[in-house]
Amino acid sequence: MTQNIDSKTLQGQHHHRDCIDHALQTAEQICLKKGVRLTAIRKSVLELICANHKAIGAYELLDLFRAQDPKAKPVTIYRALDFLMEAGLVHKIESLNAFIGCLQAETQHKSAILICDQCKNAYEIDASPVYESLFSLSEEVQFKPQCLTLELHGLCANCRKTGVQNNQSF
Ligand SMILES: [Zn+2]
Ligand SMILES: [Zn+2]
Ligand SMILES: [Zn+2]
Repeated sequence: MTQNIDSKTLQGQHHHRDCIDHALQTAEQICLKKGVRLTAIRKSVLELICANHKAIGAYELLDLFRAQDPKAKPVTIYRALDFLMEAGLVHKIESLNAFIGCLQAETQHKSAILICDQCKNAYEIDASPVYESLFSLSEEVQFKPQCLTLELHGLCANCRKTGVQNNQSF
């Protein structure tokens, strides 16, 4: 098993093939453990999502997917996305209605997603302490929390360094 790839490294230039390999390897392992099949469709949807660190929408995915299956329908993509999200391999970014691949799906984590509004890359960081404190604050007022979405919009390390001319995707 490859190591978790941390979000600090990812924000700079890195060997992105490692990210893809890690995601695919983890997907195989999770499916094996759950006794489900990583079908060709599920696998290629995951690969398309993991092609870079940008959040990608379902219809954009459909367009790309049609390169290999011109007859693919939205439901094909939605079913694959549901499966991948359920397995923790893909996260939905609510504020963009788009998806990113998870690079730590093999471990339990409570993440916040950092979204760069310039290059559109999105990264996960572990935000467990934030979840804990918000959950306990809500319990203080007898509210039973069930889910929490943490998405931060801003500028990534790479865009902050290189300024406006940067428009690369890693
Ligand atoms: Zn990468
Ligand atoms: Zn994740
Ligand atoms: Zn950026």
